[in-house]
Amino acid sequence: MHYDLIVIGCGVIGAAVARLASLRGLGVLVLEAAHDVSCGASKANSAILHAGFDPEPGTLMAEMNVRGVELYREICTDLDVPRLENGALVLGFDQADRAHLELLLERGRRNGVADLRIVGQEELRALEPGVSPEATAALYAPTSAIVDPWELTLAMTENAIANGARLELGARVTAIRLSGEPGGTFTVETEDGRSFTGRSIVNAAGVEAGRVHRLLGGSDWGSRPTRGEYYLLDKSAGSAARHTLFQCPTAAGKGVLVSPTVHGNLIVGPNAELLDDSHAVETTAAGLAEVAAAARRSLPALPLHENIRNFAGIRAACDVDDFIIAASPLDPAFINLAGIKSPGLSAAPAIAERALELLRAAGIRSADRPDAVRTRKRVRFRDLDLEERNRLIAADPAWGRIICRCETITEAEIVAAIHGPVPATSLDAVKRHAGAGMGRCQGGFCGPRVQALLARELGRRYNDICQHEPGSHIVLGPLGAETTEGGPS
Ligand SMILES: Cc1cc2nc3c(=O)[nH]c(=O)nc-3n(C[C@H](O)[C@H](O)[C@H](O)COP(=O)(O)OP(=O)(O)OC[C@H]3O[C@@H](n4cnc5c(N)ncnc54)[C@H](O)[C@@H]3O)c2cc1C
Repeated sequence: MHYDLIVIGCGVIGAAVARLASLRGLGVLVLEAAHDVSCGASKANSAILHAGFDPEPGTLMAEMNVRGVELYREICTDLDVPRLENGALVLGFDQADRAHLELLLERGRRNGVADLRIVGQEELRALEPGVSPEATAALYAPTSAIVDPWELTLAMTENAIANGARLELGARVTAIRLSGEPGGTFTVETEDGRSFTGRSIVNAAGVEAGRVHRLLGGSDWGSRPTRGEYYLLDKSAGSAARHTLFQCPTAAGKGVLVSPTVHGNLIVGPNAELLDDSHAVETTAAGLAEVAAAARRSLPALPLHENIRNFAGIRAACDVDDFIIAASPLDPAFINLAGIKSPGLSAAPAIAERALELLRAAGIRSADRPDAVRTRKRVRFRDLDLEERNRLIAADPAWGRIICRCETITEAEIVAAIHGPVPATSLDAVKRHAGAGMGRCQGGFCGPRVQALLARELGRRYNDICQHEPGSHIVLGPLGAETTEGGPS
């Protein structure tokens, strides 16, 4: 099959592009190197849909941020993605900060952000009682929101697939050729020897975008991968902050925040550490100590002893201090979406719109399909009332078997994730798609049972089921080696 568009990378940007292109009738192929979607920066970030007061007016970051969060109101409703407008407070501790808050207020107004204002100490403490008494003022942005970035990326990908897009996982692009003059055919080869052809390409490869552009013979933008480390606190700590609490941003980024998550946890981070390695997602004692000290400045009673998980993400920073959303100088139908650091999550649907405009300028025309599927629904057992739960269990007893007790996730939900449009084939993928393992025990209890379900549903040996990518085996001994079910009962 010859595709209208080949999207390289399925983080939130690739997913947003694939969704919009498929809604507009293009034949889309998505090639993702990992064995699941949302495995790069889209997996490990602060999960904030930024109001838009931080980026410099006139930049693509400002324009795409503000447009993107507006588009998400409808997208998250249509695709059943949890989104909560909890508001943000940028805390000011001294006179210099006060001047910075005024600057952010002015920037936000110029960017078109609604309802921004500076609040004094009394109102600040009424809004957020646990905030440090040292904080004397704050910029209040009521439209700032939080979202589940995994579910968002998955939902947009599923919606693209429902509209005819094809997704290939484990498909790392290693060669790109253009036959003939600009306007010719792109041939894309993957590491495992497959090859695909298309009329156009969107390069949404995150920190690898420069490398992918070089495959065509193009240049990159001086990659400056910057790691950010986090704590994720248990739901018992989730009420320690109602708003997303920022401090004044610096040149290194938006600084350490404390924020509730849509699941009711508290997220704390990130720091900013420039690295040579764009894949170094390990956490470090020094980085976490830096995060803890900075966060306690905002919230002195921060209950870090409730920590259930640490993780790190890599920002796709580069020598250009803005998003790069442009056709390659080598061919107008090769669109680079590079340097998509924060607020990339917030901006994704707007970046997708801009990418399609660039494709149109290159002769790849698209128009809204009246018959397109615009909605997606996910059944979450724990959110149902008793009557609905009983109805499901009567139809299929797997709805009555709770596998993840922390999060109340049923066998039926896990099986649905394993056989979903984007199949979840590892423990981490089941965690992202169905929520099993997200809770306080982080899979300590349900992990072996999820592993057994994966083995049963995929017809594989218990020992062959991996934590994330192929090779990340969990069981290496003889346990359950000869059975497809295996595992503890
Ligand atoms: C610490 C941190 C905090 C952040 N916080 C926020 C926030 O709160 N709000 C916000 O708006 N933004 C935030 N961001 C930014 C946001 O997360 C990113 O802008 C966004 O996730 C980028 O998405 P992406 O799809 O471009 O990249 P990615 O999610 O990295 O996806 C790129 C994909 O391309 C694939 N790929 C790479 N090379 C190839 C290849 N050769 N062939 C096939 N596939 C390939 C990768 O496997 C990957 O899945 C944060 C980022 C970080 C790191």
